[in-house]
Amino acid sequence: MPFIELDVLNNKVDGILGIDLGTTNSLVALWREGRPEILRPADGNGQPLQDARIPSVVHYPANETPIVGRNARARGIEDPERTIFSVKRFMGRGLADCTDDLASTPFAATENENGLIRFSIDERGETPQEISARILHHVWENAGVALGMLAPRRAVITVPAYFDDSQRQATRDAARIAGLEAVRILNEPTAASLAYGLDSKNHGTVAVYDLGGGTFDVSILSIEDGVFRVLSTSGDTHLGGDDFDRALVETALDELRERIGLEAAREPAFLQTVRLAAERCKIELSRVPEADLHVVDVARGLNWRRTITRADFGDLISPWIERTFDACRRALADAKLTPADIEDVVLVGGSTRVPVVRERVTEFFGREPHAGLNPDEVVALGAAVQGHVLAGGTRDVLLMDVTPLSLGIETMGGAVSKVILRNSPVPAQATDGFTTYADNQTGIDFHIVQGERELAKDCRSLGRFKLSGIPPMPAGLARIAVRFLLDADGILTVTAKEDSTGAESTIEVNPMHGLADDEVEGMLLESFAHAKEDFDQSRLANLKVELGTMLKACRTHLPSVVDELDPEARLDLEEAVAAAEAARTGDELAAAQKARDELERASLPLAAILMDSVAKRALAGKNLDEV
Ligand code: AMP
Repeated sequence: MPFIELDVLNNKVDGILGIDLGTTNSLVALWREGRPEILRPADGNGQPLQDARIPSVVHYPANETPIVGRNARARGIEDPERTIFSVKRFMGRGLADCTDDLASTPFAATENENGLIRFSIDERGETPQEISARILHHVWENAGVALGMLAPRRAVITVPAYFDDSQRQATRDAARIAGLEAVRILNEPTAASLAYGLDSKNHGTVAVYDLGGGTFDVSILSIEDGVFRVLSTSGDTHLGGDDFDRALVETALDELRERIGLEAAREPAFLQTVRLAAERCKIELSRVPEADLHVVDVARGLNWRRTITRADFGDLISPWIERTFDACRRALADAKLTPADIEDVVLVGGSTRVPVVRERVTEFFGREPHAGLNPDEVVALGAAVQGHVLAGGTRDVLLMDVTPLSLGIETMGGAVSKVILRNSPVPAQATDGFTTYADNQTGIDFHIVQGERELAKDCRSLGRFKLSGIPPMPAGLARIAVRFLLDADGILTVTAKEDSTGAESTIEVNPMHGLADDEVEGMLLESFAHAKEDFDQSRLANLKVELGTMLKACRTHLPSVVDELDPEARLDLEEAVAAAEAARTGDELAAAQKARDELERASLPLAAILMDSVAKRALAGKNLDEV
């Protein structure tokens, strides 16, 4: 399976890439300017991709070149019959080792003379190594796109600690087929520990707790003179964030089954709606102490919501968290250690963002885990650290600086949208989207703030600037990207850019100027002390904005359809509008919440009529064949 490559002799980047070749996603990083950096190609707007993960998916269109990555995943959803997901599960294994996993692939598999798997894809046959090579080559190309020049061909590639020799060899072979040299095959937990600089210890023991969407792995490592050794591993191949989603789905269905009936509650499309609502609620709960589990199904007139607190969620997912500790106990027993012997705990995987998971891990091991880096990126970052060391670099500069306080922007209503979170490694960048609040608004004032409090007035003000030249258009249509770039010297540059005209405005501030360590600590303590009250105030501010938008929509649309509403629904809506107007000027969180829910419920008939008329208009003039 040869790859055609451009022979570019100049503009090549030196160094050794770090590649996290994952089951679901892959990611690439490189040591640059004194620290490991995730390589992010630009998105459609020319901004570096926030989520640079590349799906480890290959799609085989009939008689065409295979497609890899994001596009393959998109095609795979429509056409699963020609798509391979999770090929990592087959690396270096024979048919008998993976009968369960084979059931979920669309291609027939045979074994070659060496006892290794080969998938039949049309007339072609491809081994897991060749399929992984396609993924690695795509990852390498992406690295080149992000760098703007040819990426290095040498790479450190990570594998799970439990991979045996033939699985590791298969990974090396995949690299070779992709035209890369795997200078080191590195254990994923070791990579995560390297990202946190734990190799600078003379000796110690580390537990790496890796909880993803569908799998859990724990590894116990020892460090001797900066060298890592895997003492034991354990885990569960069917345990992760998907289970947390399912627990919330069950909570919703317990009530929804009564509302809409058993049959309707079993429909796949409805279940998918509930599952997405559950994941949204779960992710929101990682940010705020309580969040709504909110299921809307306009066709059924269903608008169901229930507030879930972190404590509720903790109770719900407790059995799964306990199961991760069963695996931790097994791993510790195999290493002949107890939790108290562990000196460092490292978190990996998206589900370790759940605060209750972090709390319970802290309790179990009796110490705070390392969690300052993005748990999705830490393995690739560590691989890049290893690449740097192998390329002859020194590690003195490794200990990464982190920003001690969040940086954000004041939103409509006085709340704060945090753009770069506290403890983000520096340099850091992130982009948030904004829009206009009033019709024909041609300028927006931005207020940059620093701190953990939820309202702008309680944070430290860093500066203000204005973006003008927004073309007049209805409220909410303008698309303004506000980009925060915190460079290695701690200088923050904020740029706001309007999409359609490219109008742009920038400010540069120094967030740490005149801020002593004890002030930082004071600001943190204050935010803990006011957490509940802050949260309520921020919710009230956001609710008022939401009420404003909803009221405006009602006022705009009601006159045109008022005759189609039945009198009872109309009265109901008018009452809800009046209550919402009152709540919007008041200071009561509960009243605002109730008014918002009531208005949402009472406006469903209006929404149904509007949707109906939009659909009719869209269909008007088309004949039946076109519909
Ligand atoms: P991974 O396999 O490491 O990409 O982990 C993916 C899992 O992490 C999925 O179950 C996600 O729903 C979950 N996840 C991602 N972000 C968050 C978050 N902020 N809070 C809670 N779970 C999250």
